[in-house]
Amino acid sequence: MKILMASSEVHPYAKTGGLADMVSSLSPALAKLGHEVRIVLPRYYNIDRSGLDRLEGAMGVPVGGGEEWCAVYTAVLPSSPPNNPIPVYFIDHEGFFGREGIYGNPWEPDFLDNPRRFSFFCRAVFQLCRKIGWFPDILHSHDWPAALVSVYLKFWERPLGGEFSAASSVLTIHNLGYQGIYDKDNYSCMGLGWDVFYNAGFEDWNMMNILKAGLYSADKLNTVSPHYAGETKTQAHGFRLDGVLRYRSADYLGILNGIDTAVWNPAADPYIPQPYTVSTIAAGKARAKEALQREFGLSVDADVPLIGMVTRLTGQKGVDELFGPGYGSAWSICRDMNVQLVLLGSGETWCEDEIQSLAGRLPNFKCSIGYREDLSHLIEAGSDFFLMPSRYEPCGLNQMYSLAYGTLPIVRNTGGLVDTVENFNQETGEGTGFMFDDLTPQAIYNTVGWAVWAWYNRRPQIEAMRIAGMNKDFSWEKSAGKYIELYKGIRG
Ligand code: ADP
Repeated sequence: MKILMASSEVHPYAKTGGLADMVSSLSPALAKLGHEVRIVLPRYYNIDRSGLDRLEGAMGVPVGGGEEWCAVYTAVLPSSPPNNPIPVYFIDHEGFFGREGIYGNPWEPDFLDNPRRFSFFCRAVFQLCRKIGWFPDILHSHDWPAALVSVYLKFWERPLGGEFSAASSVLTIHNLGYQGIYDKDNYSCMGLGWDVFYNAGFEDWNMMNILKAGLYSADKLNTVSPHYAGETKTQAHGFRLDGVLRYRSADYLGILNGIDTAVWNPAADPYIPQPYTVSTIAAGKARAKEALQREFGLSVDADVPLIGMVTRLTGQKGVDELFGPGYGSAWSICRDMNVQLVLLGSGETWCEDEIQSLAGRLPNFKCSIGYREDLSHLIEAGSDFFLMPSRYEPCGLNQMYSLAYGTLPIVRNTGGLVDTVENFNQETGEGTGFMFDDLTPQAIYNTVGWAVWAWYNRRPQIEAMRIAGMNKDFSWEKSAGKYIELYKGIRG
């Protein structure tokens, strides 16, 4: 099959979260199965043109009633299988993407012209195919910034009866909390008639909802874990689109993300001091823990349990319950328990400030505010536990990285965390992590307390859980096969 991935994020070029990792690891997994995969994303300001090849000539893209001109750059995805390289195309438009930030910046968290930027990008996807003379069977788009690909296929390209009349579309939801909702004054830049601005399309309480239009337009829909697929069809987790997803439930399923084992593998990780496997875990993790303690300026101590976090600092990740001034549980956890806690993250300003202030007051809590690939690997390897108290979690990658590195996740019972972590059973010793139901400071405190208790009192069980976690298979092979079934399901 010929598959075109359209995404606003692709690792290693542009990443704010798991979406980027997913696209850059699902694509090679599909290529390994013999399919022809290509990827398209915007060329953001930070992507250096000098490492890319430029396609000859400029490309015209319809936007609203007019036209914009752009260039196209190309490269080969570094994680491509050697016998089936994956071309990546970068849509280069100075006005839309030649600024700092993917979706926004600290002063303008959601760029005002995002509807225009991403509708341009989605229409450029079709123009790109025309330019290179390559027409996919499947147009696979990801999240609201690329969701308009399905809309343009249904309402523009197919009715034209041209090169795309046999193509089908898949839309993957990585996070239903982000929908691309804008004032309907922006609708004119979509370039579609007002007959498409109806309830089973863009219209959303008199606003324009881009994801909603995509959910109604794509031939098939999926999200990134089975449990989250079920949750999104409920009012509690549906972000007001649960009705749409229930309506589309015959075409909607959950496929668990895999992890890129070429990047996240303790046996071959350049960012950790000593590679390790199940049989060398004790020495490997001890070295990593020591390096992590030194990196953060903590006391070097093998006996104290070290809890790690790598996270976007936003309400979705449970940071209010952990760091909310005056009620978050991080303070009491560090004050009452003999533990060390380290955090790498960036996000909401109040939270960054609070975390830094907390780190100044607690000797056993350290933080690094920012984005650091190397440190995220060292935290996964050097920590004993990994804390993820998510409010909701479509799939979550970090808990899978943790399991692969023999680090026990402490997670909330939600979304993909349910599909990947098994709660500790202290009677039998079974399990791979620690789980709690309610998102409250008290529940986080209690469950971290339970894990710390197990660390000091049930060490053989902790060691057995580590091995059980490392032996789990979260590679992409299984899930890539499920995407192929999804694609074939459309093509009948
Ligand atoms: P989400 O996509 O909701 O942010 P996931 O767990 O699915 O959550 O994926 C997050 C990805 O982003 C992981 O690869 C994680 O390691 C990475 N990440 C998040 N914050 C940082 C950071 N500050 N530094 C380095 N990597 C980060």
